[in-house]
Amino acid sequence: MKYIDEFRNLDIAAKISGLIKEDAKGLGEMNFMEVCGTHTMAVERFGIRQMLPENIRLISGPGCPVCVTPKNYVDKAIALTSLENVIVFSFGDMLKVPGTNSSLFKQKSKGKVRIVYSAFDAALFAEKNQDKKIVFLGIGFETTTPTVAATVKYAKKKKMKNFFVYSGHKIMPPAMKLLASDKRVNIKGFLCPAHVSAIIGMKPYVKVCEEYNIPCVIAGFEPLDILHSVLMLIRQARSKKAEVENQYNRVVKFSGNIEALRLIDEVFSINDSDWRGIGVIKNSGLILSKGYREFDIEKNIDLPEVKTSADKGCICGSVLKGIKTPLDCALFSKKCTPENPYGACMVSSEGACAAYYRYRK
Ligand code: SF4
Repeated sequence: MKYIDEFRNLDIAAKISGLIKEDAKGLGEMNFMEVCGTHTMAVERFGIRQMLPENIRLISGPGCPVCVTPKNYVDKAIALTSLENVIVFSFGDMLKVPGTNSSLFKQKSKGKVRIVYSAFDAALFAEKNQDKKIVFLGIGFETTTPTVAATVKYAKKKKMKNFFVYSGHKIMPPAMKLLASDKRVNIKGFLCPAHVSAIIGMKPYVKVCEEYNIPCVIAGFEPLDILHSVLMLIRQARSKKAEVENQYNRVVKFSGNIEALRLIDEVFSINDSDWRGIGVIKNSGLILSKGYREFDIEKNIDLPEVKTSADKGCICGSVLKGIKTPLDCALFSKKCTPENPYGACMVSSEGACAAYYRYRK
């Protein structure tokens, strides 16, 4: 198949759905978790759940980078905007995420926050405005990290003194392992993230399969990709296997993107990281490595003290762990809407609450 329409062919979708129903018979309840915000959106948009038998449940995990960024990070980013000559640069999705007392969006009107499409745009601005300190909010999984790493290398080459990164970057496999061990979620298979896998390849999921006996299938984003991947998970479960399979092999290679991995490895070091609603996960985050510390905002500025309060009524944490769905939240579509989000999962275009709101409401 070559064209997008082919991956959305209803007749083929119905055939795969039929195979899934046939093969899922007698398997008992199976929870398959997708850990990619784009999958979450696609599942809702194309009504994939409605094409599955009752015993096959797709649950959304912590696949949206904005959603898993903790409130304390948002509060600190907001606090940075109060410093003289500091301008914060961010991807647009982060702006509406509520902090304890404000949001980056509110600070934008004061000229202290700018939206960019890449870290490199922020570095170019820094080059032209050397009287300002430019802080780029480094959010995202392995997909976005290589471009930030390349930008930091550029800043080093140019001997820039006014460009910094506030790293909130995260690594997906450690979060998958944590969830795999959570009996409340009872995951029987992972739909592995496509973009992330294009960078990291298949290997990092092997331990998830081996240690937790959970099958992993790297899935593409189109409806036929997702249905096919679900069928692959079911067939592994039927034959009592737990292996890494690559449904998205038109993009993802076994070893991933070697050059991108090399860049990440050079510029970043692995660190423990705090995930919204989940807590600190060992070795699940990235900070700038020793050779690039001069671009780490946390090492070069005393970040203002902030007091972060807990979210009242928002169950984003449970949604991100797959324990609850957005429909379980009393605030969903009442007090919490994309125009007036209470939590990060309603803000991001990849958040589970935003997906439910957009396609179920
Ligand atoms: S609907 Fe809103 S308040 Fe409820 S979990 Fe989602 S983001 Fe939080």
